Amino acid sequence: MTQELTQDTAEASMPQKSDLVILYHRQPYEEVEGKDGRVVLRENTSPNGIVPTLKSFFGKADRGSWVAWKLADDPSKVDFERVVTINDSFGEYRVSRLPLTAEQVKSFYHITSKEAFWPILHSFKERYNYDPVDWPTFREVNWAFAEAAAHEAAPGANVWVHDYNLWLAPGYIRQLRPDVKISFFHHTPFPAADMFNVLPWRKEIVESLLSCDAVGFHIPRYADNFVSVVRSLLDVEVTRREKVRPEWVNEGTALSERTMPTQIEYEGRRILVSASPVGVNMDYIEEQAETPATATKLSEIKDELNGRKMILSVGRTDYTKGGIEQLESFGRVLADNPGLRGKVRLLHVSVVANRNMTAYAEIQTELEQTAGRINGAFGTFEWQPIALISRAIPFTELVAYYRAADVAWITPLADGMNLVCKEYAAARIDGDGVLVLSEFAGAAVDLSAAVMANPFSARSMDRAILQALDMPEAERRDRMEALRAKVRCYDINAWARDQTDLFEAAQKKGGATTVDPVA
Ligand code: UDP
Repeated sequence: MTQELTQDTAEASMPQKSDLVILYHRQPYEEVEGKDGRVVLRENTSPNGIVPTLKSFFGKADRGSWVAWKLADDPSKVDFERVVTINDSFGEYRVSRLPLTAEQVKSFYHITSKEAFWPILHSFKERYNYDPVDWPTFREVNWAFAEAAAHEAAPGANVWVHDYNLWLAPGYIRQLRPDVKISFFHHTPFPAADMFNVLPWRKEIVESLLSCDAVGFHIPRYADNFVSVVRSLLDVEVTRREKVRPEWVNEGTALSERTMPTQIEYEGRRILVSASPVGVNMDYIEEQAETPATATKLSEIKDELNGRKMILSVGRTDYTKGGIEQLESFGRVLADNPGLRGKVRLLHVSVVANRNMTAYAEIQTELEQTAGRINGAFGTFEWQPIALISRAIPFTELVAYYRAADVAWITPLADGMNLVCKEYAAARIDGDGVLVLSEFAGAAVDLSAAVMANPFSARSMDRAILQALDMPEAERRDRMEALRAKVRCYDINAWARDQTDLFEAAQKKGGATTVDPVA
């Protein structure tokens, strides 16, 4: 049922300024069409995911605001409700909506962010597309976010900016509001200078990020890369380097670091640099794993499997997720191991996020062709090796697949964190199941109990999935216990605590920002 949120024109009901302003490009609720054709706002159905997590911070602030964009046919129209007050289970907060035209969204989001930044962030230089970028539009949109944030913020407020599509916002906010504390969190990887500096706007971007009081990443490697980038472009000094927590060092794996910079100085200002892996809502996932609906779905899946083993792969259709490489590996494994034919099924969920983007449409076609070829080569009337699903499975249903899967096979070529692998462990309340995880997912630094795979190596991919399928129960349970302990320890509450500590450090006099000259 659509539970309509209470919304108000904000200026009248809540004229005060906010002590926490969150900038995230999406609005913090779903817009759905009601029966009468009217658009109503509905709280996000799942408390899992980044939006509910960010909203939970409003519970800790006296007053909160969120800044996002909203599609507008004509941004100058007077009936566009610019600011609304929302009242949902997280309390009352304001949402400042920036009216963007479809053209602006295309330029700022689909082209500059997804075609130019995204490939570089994930180290795919060859996919970088510079030509269609309209930099003035990117600046204009970021300026609009900054103006809205400056308008919402109370004196000395915490302004929290999220992700690369708002890279220029901190610099603009600093110009408009020197008094506020600005934190930035990257939800993606951050590449080293050799890769980042492909972007011609590199200096403008890092100068903006250096206006922050704190810059946050998922893992130490990304923080280290960021510092390598700023040092390649500007006179920045590392004033503090610290040992990485031992539980975040996955010995010998690709993304592990032993030390990381935690404070830098630039033009007399101190900037905190932090690494904190986003986690999942473990309690919620465990609850979901135990519902009668999950139990029913689980038994349906088991009946369907009919004693066969199930491998589950879940991700977005994106070249960074390594879907093709994984299907190819499965094809090789079936070719080399005839004994597995008829005994194992791969459920490959690859959700198409944006069919209008050529890069994603091409991957989708390639996934379909590869799966079709493997099914054609090995399938029979009774057994198809691969079930390819391109639509999103509702989270509550996904939990039943997590519970049913003997192996979760999560092998992105690059991934800022990857939550699916953590959700899999969280859902395994029975303590069984094997996680095969790419070394190139941020989650690999702390999920050392997973079977590690290098998706750039056919041999490593094939070996890892065979090891998982063959693993004795005692080893499976030992590994799963260790995985679940990590996922619980670094769940979403731990991440939220780290972020709160960071705000506090930024607020402290002599903390992150200081106008005193560096001694
Ligand atoms: N997801 C879902 N249904 C699907 C596929 C994915 O609900 O059919 C969710 C999944 O549970 C996870 C998120 O989408 O919470 C994907 O997050 P992740 O960090 O793994 O990847 P991203 O898409 O953010 O790169």
